Amino acid sequence: MMMKFNNNLSNFKLKSLLATLTIFSSFYSMAEIIPSEQVIKDITYLAADDLKGRASFSPEIDQAANYIAKRFADIGLQPLQTHLSTTNNSSFLQRFTVNQILPEALSVMLNTKEISQEHLAIATTIEQLSWQLGNAQSHIVGKDDDMRKILSELNQQGGQHLVIINNAHAKTFKAYQGYFNRGLTKLSLEHLGAIVMVLSDESEIKTYSVNASAKITEQSLTNVVGVLPGTKNPKDIVLYSSHYDHLGITKDGKQIYNGADDDASGTTAVLNLAQYYANKGDNKRTLMFSAFTAEEIGGFGSKYFSQQLNPDNVVAMINIEMIGKPSKFGSGTVWMTGMERSNLGTLLNEKLAALNTQIHQDPYPEQGLFYRSDNATLARLGVPAHSFSSTQLDKDQHYHQVTDDISSLDLSSMHKVIESLATATQSLVDGTVTPTRIDKAQVRANGKIF
Ligand SMILES: [Zn+2]
Repeated sequence: MMMKFNNNLSNFKLKSLLATLTIFSSFYSMAEIIPSEQVIKDITYLAADDLKGRASFSPEIDQAANYIAKRFADIGLQPLQTHLSTTNNSSFLQRFTVNQILPEALSVMLNTKEISQEHLAIATTIEQLSWQLGNAQSHIVGKDDDMRKILSELNQQGGQHLVIINNAHAKTFKAYQGYFNRGLTKLSLEHLGAIVMVLSDESEIKTYSVNASAKITEQSLTNVVGVLPGTKNPKDIVLYSSHYDHLGITKDGKQIYNGADDDASGTTAVLNLAQYYANKGDNKRTLMFSAFTAEEIGGFGSKYFSQQLNPDNVVAMINIEMIGKPSKFGSGTVWMTGMERSNLGTLLNEKLAALNTQIHQDPYPEQGLFYRSDNATLARLGVPAHSFSSTQLDKDQHYHQVTDDISSLDLSSMHKVIESLATATQSLVDGTVTPTRIDKAQVRANGKIF
């Protein structure tokens, strides 16, 4: 790790750390089902400063994608397109475009008064807006109303809304304003809508005029997907996934969000599970390995991916998120989100009973983690799709910080989690168990506007 204010881990220290782990791994290699040496190589590459935090749309995230694709090729996986034989494109890189929408100008007259810029915010998927009284639905959020709840409902509903927000909510308004000013990213522009917010104590809307413009540009993103065709039930898919994007660098450009735990650790797991099952070569179901892009900015990688195959064929999704540090249940243990939504956890635990271990329930239900990773997208389509993690999110000092680098990880615990997932999912791979589907009606929909 080079010049970082928060972390002075020298080259020497890093080398000795790796040497220790390599000795550790060769010492125990007899007992290993997944070589820890390769696990260390993968996470070291993915979490390195060279990749500058793997920000979506950056050149460095493409380097990470190429590394993953090269690993898939060496392991002997097939590209998804070859597997589906829909095109001759034989790349592991699944490229697609998203629309980035940046607000350019906004002016609002309310009850004949011009509103100043600092009291305005807009989330829009429409390039040009010009509203007079009656063109948009108007709402007043009074001082005792639940602003977040109202905005979330309008977002679910879609359409065009003018929202007057009482000054009592100034702090929350600022937070939304900051978020909206960074612009929106959308996979498609099928839902055209806008929410214009005005911070004002006006309690009546007599007249208004709103003019706004936004700039929409197409940007490209890339998932990396590899397939190990099943020997007996090739139509059934067991999906192993992670996200390989992270937050990039700090605004001043001086520090790197390495994202070693989030989610170089999960991506390392996906690579090494692919290698493990490819070496075994006896998977009766088709195994699909996917490293998703753009999770941190809204889960666009998994959204695009889910439209490229029939989700009914996906028997289970094992999404691996932040497994680099021991969970509150101890070293090498793991928990899963939404365990009560399908019987996948119960089935996996039948396999683990022999090892005297188990997959635990998500210990932080108040954090809403089921919705905070790529599994939610597939769950909306009925797939038993869950995230497997070991982060102690309630007190993880490194979460979304520049200190989430390799020196903060416990690689021995991480290695144990990967091996445990390999063992736990064996009966899915063999086709001897099929988990119940997730009830789509019980999975909250995405917002339509922001
Ligand atoms: Zn994250």
